[in-house]
Amino acid sequence: MKFAVTATAFLVSSLATRASAFGVRHSTTFAQRAAFSRTTARSMANVLKLSEPQSQLLDQVDVFIFDCDGVIWRGDSLIDGIPETLEKLRKAGKKMFFVTNNSTKSRAGYKKKFDGLGLNIPAEEIFSSSFAAAAYLEQTKFKETGKKVYVIGEVGICEELDLIDVPYLGGPADSNKMPDMGPGGRLEIDKDVGAVIVGFDRNINYHKIQYAQLCINEENAEFIATNLDAVTHLTDAQEWAGNGSMVGAIKGCTGQEPTVVGKPSPLMIEYLETKFGMDRKRICMVGDRLDTDVLFGTDNGLKSLLVLSGVTSEEKLLSPENSITPDFYADDINAFFAEAAVTQES
Ligand SMILES: [Mg+2]
Repeated sequence: MKFAVTATAFLVSSLATRASAFGVRHSTTFAQRAAFSRTTARSMANVLKLSEPQSQLLDQVDVFIFDCDGVIWRGDSLIDGIPETLEKLRKAGKKMFFVTNNSTKSRAGYKKKFDGLGLNIPAEEIFSSSFAAAAYLEQTKFKETGKKVYVIGEVGICEELDLIDVPYLGGPADSNKMPDMGPGGRLEIDKDVGAVIVGFDRNINYHKIQYAQLCINEENAEFIATNLDAVTHLTDAQEWAGNGSMVGAIKGCTGQEPTVVGKPSPLMIEYLETKFGMDRKRICMVGDRLDTDVLFGTDNGLKSLLVLSGVTSEEKLLSPENSITPDFYADDINAFFAEAAVTQES
């Protein structure tokens, strides 16, 4: 029952905040619209290409939340100009957080990736969905129950649980297990499991699915999903089944909806508000996906900006079929410090 209540509350609050975000978007000035229509003939009325970054964006935003893949890097390559742009934002006194729905690494794991790309980012500014799962357990005072977590997922979730001292089982340790499925066979589970966290797991197997099923159906363990991404980019050659497929397996055998902690759930914003006292109207979500990044911004009453440096094309953004609209879009985040060249050229 608890899950249904939580999911409903999220839905109601997200619909309410989405409505207010539309109100904000429609308040763009005539001058902004005129400038935009001069620069892009195909423009739809309510999506502005960033042309005066100082007044349109920097003056109104204290905190930037950056999605990583398609914004900071593409695969393993840093996008040109990013270190300089981040440095300028820091000098301008902006706070920054770097968010990824990929749960396979912990914040420490991502810090290594940032370091490897030559970006010196403090671990506290990194917000992976593995960390979001641990932050949710902290918020709900899970540790005080004395229970354990069963993990479907990789080392990132386990490392974050270690940091908050919550005991867990499963994860990589169960990657080669097979339940006894002979006559009378059964899988015995630890009766102290109080939550199942499902994250992206390249070694998911029937043992893990059955273990999670028993914990949720028989022990009333809470079902937590790091994210629901349908596909992910394991390699740059094709799209790969994302964590939506692992979560779908557990939904299928439990009939339950999970509590989702990664984008586009509101959990991270609530965490930032509680921990740092941030005003969400002065936070801007920057990402390359409409259905996770921009939706995360609009659902939570944040400003949102789509960059074209990742998976979304300008055509897709501006197409009449697209109903998810950011406040602004830009070629990449280097546009935050570009001169108003676009307007002057026309
Ligand atoms: Mg991305």
